[in-house]
Amino acid sequence: MPFATLAKRTRNAIVRGPQSIRTKLTLWYLLSLAAALALFAALVFSARAQTIDDEADAVLQAHVQRLVRDLRAPLLELDVVDALVEDSHLSREPVTVRERSGTALFRSPAFPVLPGPAETQCASAARAGTDLVTVRDRTGVPYRVSTAVLDRAGASPLVVQLATSTAPVRLALRELALALTIGVLVVLSAASYGGSFIARRALKPVEDIDARVRAIQASSLSDRLDIHTGSVELDGLVATLNAMLDRIETSMRGARRFAADASHELQTPIAAMRMVVDLCGQGGDGGARACAMAADLAADVDRLSALVRDLRLLALADGGHLIDQAEDVDLTLLVHECADIVRAVAEPRRVTVAVDVLSDVVVDGSARHLGRALLNLAQNAVRYSPDGSSIQITVGRLDQEAVVAMVDEGCGIPADDLPHIFERFYRADPARARDTGGSGLGLAIADQIIRSHGGRLEVTSAVGVGSTFLMFLPYRTAVDCPAPAIHRDSINAG
Ligand code: ADP
Repeated sequence: MPFATLAKRTRNAIVRGPQSIRTKLTLWYLLSLAAALALFAALVFSARAQTIDDEADAVLQAHVQRLVRDLRAPLLELDVVDALVEDSHLSREPVTVRERSGTALFRSPAFPVLPGPAETQCASAARAGTDLVTVRDRTGVPYRVSTAVLDRAGASPLVVQLATSTAPVRLALRELALALTIGVLVVLSAASYGGSFIARRALKPVEDIDARVRAIQASSLSDRLDIHTGSVELDGLVATLNAMLDRIETSMRGARRFAADASHELQTPIAAMRMVVDLCGQGGDGGARACAMAADLAADVDRLSALVRDLRLLALADGGHLIDQAEDVDLTLLVHECADIVRAVAEPRRVTVAVDVLSDVVVDGSARHLGRALLNLAQNAVRYSPDGSSIQITVGRLDQEAVVAMVDEGCGIPADDLPHIFERFYRADPARARDTGGSGLGLAIADQIIRSHGGRLEVTSAVGVGSTFLMFLPYRTAVDCPAPAIHRDSINAG
């Protein structure tokens, strides 16, 4: 099979369909080795063939020169033909003696019988004095013919041609080709075992990693791969997989806790509703009690549906589907609207809500969701502030970001709780937070919304002094350019 075909088939076998890397590696290795060996064998063969040809020609030329020396006496005779015929030694040599013109004077019985064209070729070689020609006899057997010229004093020169079959040379070349082919095949078959063995050894760590990863179940996510392969690449893969397992474990733990917290949160209003329904079932207490129960029921239903809405919003944000289509959001306007809403709750407690606009800022995003995030922060500020305190909301630009700062003089958040307050259902002071009507999702939702807008939420707080929430959003444009920038120190509290 020609090498190109073999290469094409091997390539097709490699490219088509999924195969083990070991097979692919072995095949590619064999293919490249076969190409290298074939090239090497071809070079060796052609160099050796040239040497064998040259050696055979040299032997033939030496032979014809020796013959001319041996035949010098008869060739110098006047009747050359008779002298040659009488030379018994000559009958065994495949020799022809010609005039310089090419006319054959004597042809020994051992000289091959040449067809017309070959004869003409020999005659031309005699005329031209061409040293070596290759001709075929009547049966097609190739012969090498060497020509030597003998100058004769006072007579025209004579040409002696000696023929020898090239069969031995061709046989030697065939043997050489056979030896090279066998050698290449032996090396290739040994290499296929070697290549497969090396590939298996090289891929053993991959199989180990695969087996270990398969063994890690959802219930054993804390397991890690403790495999040291001794290869930089595979050790890197193991480290990457371990890091991925860390992330999966963290998120699975979060998901489990979230599911437990959510069911716990849902249980309370459902139990309350069940109790109200049971009481209603006992009946007989008149209209006023029924009205009170219905009001309780409605409040619990509202709480339940708000919780379900919040859970849905978080699920959408987790999936990255919170903002369908971004719009221009006038952050200043949004802050004013939010302040107006919370003032309705703040004023009865003499809590003042002041808005300070350092620059009008427009951002890209969803006004509805950003309004919700602002409202969550502002409601918390009012909720956790003592009566008669004040809340300061500042909107402006900090470096290349739009920023809203919400500063209150409330109870503050203990340092231990600060890293957790953006977690879902986390309450720094559960009893108090439940009393104030919080579900523990307000900050988690605000944080998710802001992160969905490419921003971030930061908090600093000191117990008994107050808290500062900083909402950063990618800055798009200031309505009044150039906008004065806020300095962090001027808005941080606590
Ligand atoms: P909640 O609905 O309980 O208020 P949040 O997610 O909004 O839940 O807040 C989480 C916790 O962070 C609250 O329980 C509260 O302890 C604390 N917190 C949030 N905002 C403030 C604030 N402005 N001042 C003091 N504590 C706060």
